[in-house]
Amino acid sequence: MPESLRKTYKYKLKPTSEQERRLEDILWRCRRLYNTALEQRITLWKQRGVSLCAYTQSAELPDLRATLPDYAAIHSQVLQDVLARLEKTYQAFFRRVKTGQTPGFPRFQGSNRYNSFTYKQFGNGVTLDNGFLVLSKIGRVAVRWSRALAGTPKTVTLSREADGWYVCCSCADVPTQPLEPTGQETGIDVGLESFATLSDGTMIHNPRCYRKAERRLKTAQRRVSRRKKGGNRRRKAVKLLAKAHQTVKRQRQDFQHKTALALVRQFDTIYLEDLQVANMVRNHRLAKSINDAGWASFRTILEAKAAYAGRRVVAVPPVYTSQVCSGCGVIVSKGLSVRWHLCPDCGTSLHRDHNAARNIERAGQALRGEVA
Ligand SMILES: [Zn+2]
Repeated sequence: MPESLRKTYKYKLKPTSEQERRLEDILWRCRRLYNTALEQRITLWKQRGVSLCAYTQSAELPDLRATLPDYAAIHSQVLQDVLARLEKTYQAFFRRVKTGQTPGFPRFQGSNRYNSFTYKQFGNGVTLDNGFLVLSKIGRVAVRWSRALAGTPKTVTLSREADGWYVCCSCADVPTQPLEPTGQETGIDVGLESFATLSDGTMIHNPRCYRKAERRLKTAQRRVSRRKKGGNRRRKAVKLLAKAHQTVKRQRQDFQHKTALALVRQFDTIYLEDLQVANMVRNHRLAKSINDAGWASFRTILEAKAAYAGRRVVAVPPVYTSQVCSGCGVIVSKGLSVRWHLCPDCGTSLHRDHNAARNIERAGQALRGEVA
Protein backbone atom coordinates (compact mmCIF):
# COMPACT_ATOMS: atom_id res chain seq x y z
CA MET A 1 0.00 0.00 0.00
CA PRO A 2 1.77 3.18 -1.19
CA GLU A 3 1.88 6.12 1.18
CA SER A 4 1.57 8.65 -1.58
CA LEU A 5 0.39 8.77 -5.16
CA ARG A 6 -0.23 10.98 -8.13
CA LYS A 7 -3.39 13.05 -8.26
CA THR A 8 -4.87 15.74 -10.47
CA TYR A 9 -6.50 18.86 -9.13
CA LYS A 10 -8.73 21.04 -11.27
CA TYR A 11 -9.62 24.67 -10.68
CA LYS A 12 -11.51 27.34 -12.53
CA LEU A 13 -9.42 30.25 -13.73
CA LYS A 14 -10.42 33.89 -13.56
CA PRO A 15 -8.35 35.44 -16.34
CA THR A 16 -8.66 39.08 -17.34
CA SER A 17 -10.07 39.60 -20.83
CA GLU A 18 -6.54 40.34 -22.05
CA GLN A 19 -5.25 37.11 -20.53
CA GLU A 20 -8.18 35.19 -21.99
CA ARG A 21 -7.35 36.50 -25.46
CA ARG A 22 -3.79 35.37 -24.96
CA LEU A 23 -4.89 31.89 -23.83
CA GLU A 24 -7.17 31.60 -26.88
CA ASP A 25 -4.32 32.71 -29.09
CA ILE A 26 -1.90 30.10 -27.71
CA LEU A 27 -4.53 27.39 -28.04
CA TRP A 28 -5.15 28.37 -31.65
CA ARG A 29 -1.44 28.25 -32.48
CA CYS A 30 -1.00 24.90 -30.74
CA ARG A 31 -3.82 23.50 -32.86
CA ARG A 32 -2.21 24.90 -36.01
CA LEU A 33 1.08 23.29 -35.04
CA TYR A 34 -0.65 19.96 -34.37
CA ASN A 35 -2.39 19.98 -37.73
CA THR A 36 0.72 21.11 -39.61
CA ALA A 37 2.84 18.43 -37.97
CA LEU A 38 0.22 15.81 -38.85
CA GLU A 39 0.16 17.03 -42.44
CA GLN A 40 3.96 16.85 -42.58
CA ARG A 41 3.93 13.26 -41.41
CA ILE A 42 1.28 12.27 -43.94
CA THR A 43 3.02 14.02 -46.84
CA LEU A 44 6.44 12.56 -46.09
CA TRP A 45 4.95 9.13 -45.80
CA LYS A 46 3.11 9.43 -49.10
CA GLN A 47 6.04 10.94 -51.02
CA ARG A 48 8.99 9.02 -49.67
CA GLY A 49 7.65 6.36 -47.36
CA VAL A 50 9.44 8.05 -44.47
CA SER A 51 7.83 7.97 -41.07
CA LEU A 52 8.62 10.84 -38.77
CA CYS A 53 8.66 10.70 -35.02
CA ALA A 54 8.09 13.39 -32.43
CA TYR A 55 11.82 13.58 -31.83
CA THR A 56 12.63 14.59 -35.41
CA GLN A 57 9.77 17.06 -35.46
CA SER A 58 10.79 18.57 -32.12
CA ALA A 59 14.22 19.24 -33.55
CA GLU A 60 12.57 21.66 -35.97
CA LEU A 61 10.96 23.69 -33.22
CA PRO A 62 13.86 26.12 -32.62
CA ASP A 63 13.82 27.01 -36.33
CA LEU A 64 10.09 27.51 -36.24
CA ARG A 65 10.37 29.79 -33.22
CA ALA A 66 13.18 31.72 -34.88
CA THR A 67 11.16 32.42 -38.03
CA LEU A 68 7.71 32.94 -36.54
CA PRO A 69 7.63 35.39 -33.63
CA ASP A 70 4.12 34.27 -32.69
CA TYR A 71 5.54 30.88 -31.85
CA ALA A 72 8.56 32.35 -30.10
CA ALA A 73 6.03 33.90 -27.74
CA ILE A 74 4.84 30.44 -26.65
CA HIS A 75 6.83 28.47 -24.11
CA SER A 76 8.96 25.84 -25.90
CA GLN A 77 7.77 23.00 -23.68
CA VAL A 78 4.16 23.76 -24.55
CA LEU A 79 5.03 23.32 -28.22
CA GLN A 80 6.96 20.13 -27.51
CA ASP A 81 3.92 18.77 -25.76
CA VAL A 82 1.80 19.42 -28.87
CA LEU A 83 4.13 17.15 -30.86
CA ALA A 84 4.18 14.60 -28.05
CA ARG A 85 0.39 14.44 -28.23
CA LEU A 86 0.54 13.74 -31.95
CA GLU A 87 3.09 11.01 -31.31
CA LYS A 88 0.81 9.47 -28.70
CA THR A 89 -2.11 9.45 -31.12
CA TYR A 90 0.05 7.71 -33.72
CA GLN A 91 1.28 5.11 -31.29
CA ALA A 92 -2.25 4.38 -30.13
CA PHE A 93 -3.27 4.06 -33.77
CA PHE A 94 -0.53 1.55 -34.59
CA ARG A 95 -1.09 -0.38 -31.39
CA ARG A 96 -4.72 -0.87 -32.34
CA VAL A 97 -3.81 -1.86 -35.89
CA LYS A 98 -1.48 -4.50 -34.45
CA THR A 99 -4.18 -6.01 -32.28
CA GLY A 100 -6.38 -6.41 -35.35
CA GLN A 101 -8.76 -3.52 -34.71
CA THR A 102 -9.70 -0.93 -37.33
CA PRO A 103 -9.04 2.40 -35.64
CA GLY A 104 -9.62 5.78 -37.25
CA PHE A 105 -6.48 7.41 -38.63
CA PRO A 106 -5.14 10.34 -36.52
CA ARG A 107 -7.25 13.26 -37.59
CA PHE A 108 -6.93 16.97 -38.06
CA GLN A 109 -8.27 18.88 -35.10
CA GLY A 110 -11.04 21.42 -35.51
CA SER A 111 -11.36 24.34 -33.12
CA ASN A 112 -14.10 22.52 -31.21
CA ARG A 113 -11.97 19.49 -30.55
CA TYR A 114 -8.61 20.94 -29.59
CA ASN A 115 -9.18 22.48 -26.19
CA SER A 116 -6.05 22.38 -24.08
CA PHE A 117 -2.32 22.86 -23.88
CA THR A 118 0.21 21.63 -21.34
CA TYR A 119 3.30 22.81 -19.51
CA LYS A 120 5.25 19.60 -19.00
CA GLN A 121 7.31 20.76 -16.07
CA PHE A 122 6.06 22.81 -13.17
CA GLY A 123 8.57 25.57 -12.48
CA ASN A 124 9.47 25.82 -16.16
CA GLY A 125 7.22 28.48 -17.66
CA VAL A 126 4.58 27.94 -15.01
CA THR A 127 4.57 28.39 -11.27
CA LEU A 128 2.40 29.43 -8.35
CA ASP A 129 2.80 32.62 -6.42
CA ASN A 130 0.61 33.93 -3.64
CA GLY A 131 -2.46 32.10 -4.93
CA PHE A 132 -1.89 33.18 -8.52
CA LEU A 133 -0.98 30.93 -11.41
CA VAL A 134 2.02 32.55 -13.05
CA LEU A 135 2.39 31.68 -16.73
CA SER A 136 5.34 32.87 -18.75
CA LYS A 137 4.32 35.42 -21.37
CA ILE A 138 0.73 35.51 -20.09
CA GLY A 139 1.13 36.82 -16.59
CA ARG A 140 -0.44 36.28 -13.17
CA VAL A 141 -3.80 34.54 -13.57
CA ALA A 142 -6.30 34.43 -10.71
CA VAL A 143 -7.54 30.98 -9.62
CA ARG A 144 -10.74 29.88 -7.85
CA TRP A 145 -9.25 27.60 -5.20
CA SER A 146 -12.23 25.30 -4.65
CA ARG A 147 -10.11 22.91 -2.56
CA ALA A 148 -6.57 22.64 -1.29
CA LEU A 149 -3.82 21.38 -3.53
CA ALA A 150 -1.57 18.68 -2.06
CA GLY A 151 1.73 17.11 -3.07
CA THR A 152 4.25 18.41 -5.57
CA PRO A 153 2.91 19.92 -8.81
CA LYS A 154 4.43 18.24 -11.87
CA THR A 155 2.53 19.15 -15.02
CA VAL A 156 0.03 21.92 -15.65
CA THR A 157 -2.68 21.78 -18.31
CA LEU A 158 -4.86 24.71 -19.28
CA SER A 159 -8.16 23.80 -20.87
CA ARG A 160 -11.05 25.68 -22.39
CA GLU A 161 -14.56 24.56 -21.58
CA ALA A 162 -17.97 25.95 -22.46
CA ASP A 163 -17.99 28.24 -19.42
CA GLY A 164 -14.39 29.38 -19.42
CA TRP A 165 -10.83 28.31 -18.68
CA TYR A 166 -9.63 25.70 -16.20
CA VAL A 167 -6.27 24.58 -14.88
CA CYS A 168 -5.40 20.96 -14.11
CA CYS A 169 -2.41 20.40 -11.84
CA SER A 170 -1.06 16.89 -11.78
CA CYS A 171 0.71 16.44 -8.45
CA ALA A 172 3.09 13.73 -7.26
CA ASP A 173 3.64 12.62 -3.67
CA VAL A 174 0.08 13.30 -2.59
CA PRO A 175 -0.25 11.53 0.78
CA THR A 176 -2.96 8.83 0.75
CA GLN A 177 -5.69 8.79 3.36
CA PRO A 178 -6.40 5.14 4.13
CA LEU A 179 -9.86 4.30 5.50
CA GLU A 180 -10.54 1.82 8.29
CA PRO A 181 -11.22 -1.68 6.89
CA THR A 182 -14.90 -2.66 6.89
CA GLY A 183 -14.36 -6.39 6.26
CA GLN A 184 -16.73 -6.22 3.27
CA GLU A 185 -16.20 -7.12 -0.37
CA THR A 186 -18.38 -6.95 -3.43
CA GLY A 187 -18.58 -7.81 -7.10
CA ILE A 188 -20.07 -5.23 -9.38
CA ASP A 189 -21.69 -5.81 -12.79
CA VAL A 190 -22.46 -3.23 -15.47
CA GLY A 191 -26.10 -3.37 -16.36
CA LEU A 192 -28.16 -2.60 -19.42
CA GLU A 193 -31.13 -1.21 -17.53
CA SER A 194 -29.35 -0.04 -14.39
CA PHE A 195 -25.92 1.52 -14.13
CA ALA A 196 -24.52 -1.31 -12.04
CA THR A 197 -25.51 -4.15 -9.73
CA LEU A 198 -23.68 -5.32 -6.60
CA SER A 199 -23.37 -8.92 -5.47
CA ASP A 200 -25.81 -8.35 -2.60
CA GLY A 201 -28.42 -7.46 -5.22
CA THR A 202 -28.28 -3.67 -4.77
CA MET A 203 -28.96 -1.91 -8.06
CA ILE A 204 -27.41 1.46 -8.77
CA HIS A 205 -29.55 3.44 -11.18
CA ASN A 206 -28.62 6.26 -13.48
CA PRO A 207 -30.01 9.47 -12.00
CA ARG A 208 -33.24 10.85 -13.45
CA CYS A 209 -31.67 14.18 -14.24
CA TYR A 210 -29.86 12.47 -17.13
CA ARG A 211 -33.04 12.25 -19.19
CA LYS A 212 -33.97 15.83 -18.61
CA ALA A 213 -30.48 17.01 -19.57
CA GLU A 214 -30.47 14.78 -22.62
CA ARG A 215 -33.80 16.19 -23.77
CA ARG A 216 -32.37 19.66 -23.41
CA LEU A 217 -29.32 18.58 -25.37
CA LYS A 218 -31.51 17.36 -28.23
CA THR A 219 -33.43 20.63 -28.31
CA ALA A 220 -30.14 22.53 -28.45
CA GLN A 221 -28.92 20.30 -31.28
CA ARG A 222 -32.09 20.88 -33.30
CA ARG A 223 -31.82 24.61 -32.73
CA VAL A 224 -28.30 24.63 -34.19
CA SER A 225 -29.28 22.65 -37.27
CA ARG A 226 -32.27 24.91 -37.95
CA ARG A 227 -30.22 28.08 -38.04
CA LYS A 228 -28.39 29.39 -41.06
CA LYS A 229 -24.68 28.66 -41.30
CA GLY A 230 -22.36 31.56 -40.64
CA GLY A 231 -25.08 33.59 -38.95
CA ASN A 232 -24.95 35.23 -35.58
CA ARG A 233 -27.99 33.37 -34.32
CA ARG A 234 -26.34 30.07 -35.18
CA ARG A 235 -23.19 31.04 -33.30
CA LYS A 236 -25.31 31.72 -30.25
CA ALA A 237 -27.09 28.39 -30.64
CA VAL A 238 -23.73 26.60 -30.89
CA LYS A 239 -22.68 28.20 -27.61
CA LEU A 240 -25.86 26.99 -25.93
CA LEU A 241 -25.27 23.51 -27.32
CA ALA A 242 -21.76 23.45 -25.86
CA LYS A 243 -23.22 24.46 -22.49
CA ALA A 244 -25.78 21.67 -22.70
CA HIS A 245 -23.01 19.17 -23.46
CA GLN A 246 -21.07 20.44 -20.49
CA THR A 247 -24.10 20.02 -18.21
CA VAL A 248 -24.55 16.41 -19.27
CA LYS A 249 -20.85 15.72 -18.77
CA ARG A 250 -20.85 17.35 -15.33
CA GLN A 251 -23.89 15.41 -14.19
CA ARG A 252 -22.32 12.16 -15.31
CA GLN A 253 -19.04 12.95 -13.55
CA ASP A 254 -20.84 14.04 -10.43
CA PHE A 255 -22.87 10.83 -10.30
CA GLN A 256 -19.80 8.68 -10.94
CA HIS A 257 -17.75 10.42 -8.26
CA LYS A 258 -20.49 10.04 -5.67
CA THR A 259 -21.12 6.40 -6.58
CA ALA A 260 -17.41 5.56 -6.49
CA LEU A 261 -16.99 7.28 -3.13
CA ALA A 262 -19.91 5.36 -1.61
CA LEU A 263 -18.48 2.04 -2.85
CA VAL A 264 -14.97 2.81 -1.64
CA ARG A 265 -16.30 3.73 1.80
CA GLN A 266 -18.31 0.54 2.12
CA PHE A 267 -15.98 -2.10 0.66
CA ASP A 268 -12.35 -3.09 1.23
CA THR A 269 -12.20 -4.89 -2.10
CA ILE A 270 -14.28 -4.30 -5.22
CA TYR A 271 -14.28 -6.84 -8.05
CA LEU A 272 -15.30 -5.81 -11.52
CA GLU A 273 -15.18 -7.15 -15.04
CA ASP A 274 -12.27 -6.28 -17.30
CA LEU A 275 -14.47 -5.14 -20.16
CA GLN A 276 -11.69 -4.27 -22.58
CA VAL A 277 -11.05 -7.97 -22.74
CA ALA A 278 -14.76 -8.66 -22.89
CA ASN A 279 -15.24 -6.70 -26.08
CA MET A 280 -12.61 -8.72 -27.85
CA VAL A 281 -13.69 -12.05 -26.46
CA ARG A 282 -17.44 -11.94 -26.65
CA ASN A 283 -19.59 -10.41 -29.31
CA HIS A 284 -22.91 -10.82 -27.61
CA ARG A 285 -21.77 -8.38 -24.99
CA LEU A 286 -21.57 -5.64 -27.60
CA ALA A 287 -24.99 -4.42 -26.63
CA LYS A 288 -23.40 -3.29 -23.43
CA SER A 289 -20.99 -1.07 -25.29
CA ILE A 290 -23.63 1.65 -25.03
CA ASN A 291 -22.71 1.73 -21.40
CA ASP A 292 -19.04 1.06 -21.84
CA ALA A 293 -17.86 4.62 -22.39
CA GLY A 294 -19.41 5.64 -19.10
CA TRP A 295 -18.17 2.48 -17.45
CA ALA A 296 -14.55 3.09 -18.48
CA SER A 297 -14.51 6.54 -16.95
CA PHE A 298 -16.25 5.23 -13.85
CA ARG A 299 -13.61 2.56 -13.46
CA THR A 300 -10.85 5.18 -13.68
CA ILE A 301 -12.53 7.26 -10.98
CA LEU A 302 -13.18 4.23 -8.79
CA GLU A 303 -9.58 3.03 -9.06
CA ALA A 304 -8.19 6.46 -8.22
CA LYS A 305 -10.45 6.84 -5.18
CA ALA A 306 -9.68 3.30 -4.04
CA ALA A 307 -5.93 3.87 -4.28
CA TYR A 308 -6.28 7.09 -2.31
CA ALA A 309 -8.29 5.35 0.40
CA GLY A 310 -6.13 2.23 0.57
CA ARG A 311 -8.84 0.01 -0.96
CA ARG A 312 -8.48 -2.63 -3.68
CA VAL A 313 -10.12 -2.80 -7.09
CA VAL A 314 -9.58 -6.14 -8.84
CA ALA A 315 -10.43 -6.64 -12.51
CA VAL A 316 -11.68 -10.09 -13.42
CA PRO A 317 -11.61 -11.67 -16.90
CA PRO A 318 -15.26 -11.81 -17.94
CA VAL A 319 -15.71 -15.45 -18.81
CA TYR A 320 -19.31 -16.69 -18.62
CA THR A 321 -20.06 -14.34 -15.74
CA SER A 322 -23.64 -13.90 -16.87
CA GLN A 323 -24.21 -17.50 -17.97
CA VAL A 324 -22.91 -19.46 -14.98
CA CYS A 325 -25.26 -20.09 -12.08
CA SER A 326 -23.90 -18.39 -8.98
CA GLY A 327 -25.63 -20.99 -6.84
CA CYS A 328 -24.24 -24.23 -8.27
CA GLY A 329 -21.84 -23.35 -11.10
CA VAL A 330 -23.84 -24.95 -13.91
CA ILE A 331 -24.07 -23.04 -17.20
CA VAL A 332 -27.51 -21.60 -17.83
CA SER A 333 -27.30 -19.93 -21.25
CA LYS A 334 -29.61 -17.04 -21.86
CA GLY A 335 -29.89 -14.28 -24.47
CA LEU A 336 -29.53 -10.63 -23.61
CA SER A 337 -33.29 -10.16 -23.46
CA VAL A 338 -33.63 -12.68 -20.65
CA ARG A 339 -33.41 -10.53 -17.53
CA TRP A 340 -33.92 -13.22 -14.92
CA HIS A 341 -31.62 -16.08 -13.97
CA LEU A 342 -33.49 -19.21 -12.98
CA CYS A 343 -31.37 -22.33 -12.50
CA PRO A 344 -33.10 -25.62 -13.43
CA ASP A 345 -30.55 -27.55 -11.37
CA CYS A 346 -30.46 -25.83 -7.98
CA GLY A 347 -33.40 -23.46 -8.24
CA THR A 348 -31.36 -20.28 -7.75
CA SER A 349 -33.57 -17.43 -8.87
CA LEU A 350 -32.38 -13.84 -9.13
CA HIS A 351 -31.87 -10.92 -11.52
CA ARG A 352 -29.30 -11.76 -14.19
CA ASP A 353 -27.09 -8.79 -13.23
CA HIS A 354 -27.25 -9.82 -9.57
CA ASN A 355 -26.19 -13.32 -10.60
CA ALA A 356 -23.33 -11.87 -12.67
CA ALA A 357 -22.15 -9.66 -9.79
CA ARG A 358 -22.00 -12.71 -7.51
CA ASN A 359 -19.96 -14.59 -10.12
CA ILE A 360 -17.61 -11.64 -10.51
CA GLU A 361 -17.03 -11.54 -6.76
CA ARG A 362 -16.33 -15.27 -6.65
CA ALA A 363 -13.99 -15.16 -9.67
CA GLY A 364 -12.15 -12.22 -8.13
CA GLN A 365 -11.71 -13.97 -4.81
CA ALA A 366 -10.36 -17.06 -6.59
CA LEU A 367 -7.98 -14.87 -8.56
CA ARG A 368 -6.70 -13.20 -5.41
CA GLY A 369 -6.32 -16.60 -3.75
CA GLU A 370 -4.03 -17.69 -6.59
CA VAL A 371 -1.95 -14.55 -6.40
CA ALA A 372 -1.62 -14.56 -2.61
ZN1 LIG B 1 -27.75 -23.45 -10.07
